[in-house]
Amino acid sequence: MGEFELIDRYFKRPVTRSPLGIGDDCALLAPAPGMQLAVSTDMLVEGRHFLSTVDPFALGHKALAVNLSDLAACGAKPLAFSLALSLPRVDESWLDAFSRGLFALADAHGCELVGGDTTQGPLNICITVFGEVPTGQALLRSGARDGDDIHVSGSLGDARLALEVFRGRLSVPGEVFEAARQRLEQPQPRVALGLALRGIASSAIDVSDGLLGDLGHILQQSGVGARIDSQTALGLLAAGEAGAMASGLLAQETRLELVLAGGDDYELLFTAPASIRANVQAAASACATPVTRIGRIERETGVRLVRADGTLMQGRYPSFDHFK
Ligand code: ADP
Ligand code: MG
Repeated sequence: MGEFELIDRYFKRPVTRSPLGIGDDCALLAPAPGMQLAVSTDMLVEGRHFLSTVDPFALGHKALAVNLSDLAACGAKPLAFSLALSLPRVDESWLDAFSRGLFALADAHGCELVGGDTTQGPLNICITVFGEVPTGQALLRSGARDGDDIHVSGSLGDARLALEVFRGRLSVPGEVFEAARQRLEQPQPRVALGLALRGIASSAIDVSDGLLGDLGHILQQSGVGARIDSQTALGLLAAGEAGAMASGLLAQETRLELVLAGGDDYELLFTAPASIRANVQAAASACATPVTRIGRIERETGVRLVRADGTLMQGRYPSFDHFK
């Protein structure tokens, strides 16, 4: 099968909202009047972001999910995406499953595939997403202010737990692993929450490299520091609820590390003035997304991790860095 037949068969679908999709030199997008385009690119490389054995349906899902998560963090509504694909060979069953996973998530978010590039080479998937946000209303990393609450959506650390089980470094009961693996392989981008937080959140980021690392980006770009309640943070590991965890299968230190520095979570971490706490909860319930308040922004730079009794914890929780 040639390049163009492959594109036609697996990726070309009629576009309904974009004026021009796959098949010309450029795709055309038409953001509504008064809207800004939000654009983000994320690349997934075999051996680095996923193993060759991963289910192609899940991979198609995840490749788009990590990109939609960036739109969510900006409070942008998904419009369209492009797909640059490097494939070692034409494997029809792989392409079929990959494209089904990709389009299932794309359809769920009304995001159209409008173009891309296809070449032979090591397996590499690069997606660029385009979203729209009313001019001036994008959620940024730079807006956190002294006294703001710090919130995070959903649960943290489970994706990393699954990765460590795959690597043979941790061991958990089968059903705990299956739930964690679902989080690693098919994360659900928090698009609805991002939209609901426009005009409410003072800053936002999606957690891809670990809570503390990504919080660090907000703190640095906002010129502030933070205090994080370690007991609340511990409760964010969904697998921590399983009886096996409670009875001490994973040490507290390990669970805290997974939550604070796990990575691959794709939850939203955001700040909002304490005076509008009720609006945050209303936004969260409106889109049925749990949100937990885990700390507050302080003037003093750096992160202070505190125990329930208010004493400071020591310890370093580095975030994931591809070059370290
Ligand atoms: P060009 O030579 O102008 O770069 P290509 O021959 O690479 O065009 O691609 C032909 C058309 O197919 C273009 O519209 C391009 O956007 C689209 N396309 C190529 N690969 C993909 C892909 N993997 N997914 C979606 N669209 C693709
Ligand atoms: Mg091309």
